[in-house]
Amino acid sequence: MDITPDNEFINNSNVPGPTKEEVRCLVMCKSQVSKADVVVDVGCGTGGLTLEFAKRAKKVYAIDKNPEALKTTFKNLQKHGLDDGVDLIEADGTEVLDNLPPFDVLMVGGSGGKMDYLLKRGYKNLKSGGRIVVTSILLETPSEATMVMKDLGMEVDVVGVSISKGKISARGTMMVARNPITIVSAKKALEN
Ligand code: SAH
Repeated sequence: MDITPDNEFINNSNVPGPTKEEVRCLVMCKSQVSKADVVVDVGCGTGGLTLEFAKRAKKVYAIDKNPEALKTTFKNLQKHGLDDGVDLIEADGTEVLDNLPPFDVLMVGGSGGKMDYLLKRGYKNLKSGGRIVVTSILLETPSEATMVMKDLGMEVDVVGVSISKGKISARGTMMVARNPITIVSAKKALEN
């Protein structure tokens, strides 16, 4: 799978991300993104996931309430020649989900305490067979996302990801732990 290395991103100290390489890899699998898909990335941050979706989807809407995040995401897309096919929207996700065309993947990388509203609104505009993926470093977010998805009648998949990377030195290789992440995902049932 073609995943951009972490060190190829332009960072901004005021913006979180990028989502680490190995986690981006799992998110791409869980989202089942493909070339015909429209993706909405709420809380695009540094653009780590936006960039991966841009490589694989037809159209991406990257949303963030922080203007610095949109600037950083744009720089990263441009650096990798992936800015075509990505619309950058400065807004709170809750304000714009209703106005977007129906989408195949709803990615939530940041919710600002509005997970319930975001998922319920997003679900309405999610195509049948569409997927929702939520990533979080917090403990509370995955449980809230799981509850909302269950209420929406979705079958939920929850994965805890704990990764350590080898730091290679003359003495040997030391495994350095990264922050655990939880990925919650679910698929909207196909209409009969
Ligand atoms: N997935 C990103 C990192 C996301 S960090 C990457 O790989 O680079 C989370 C982001 O969510 C932050 O930039 C924050 O501003 C944004 N955010 C949080 N709540 C939001 C909301 N309700 N609407 C839009 N953006 C939001």
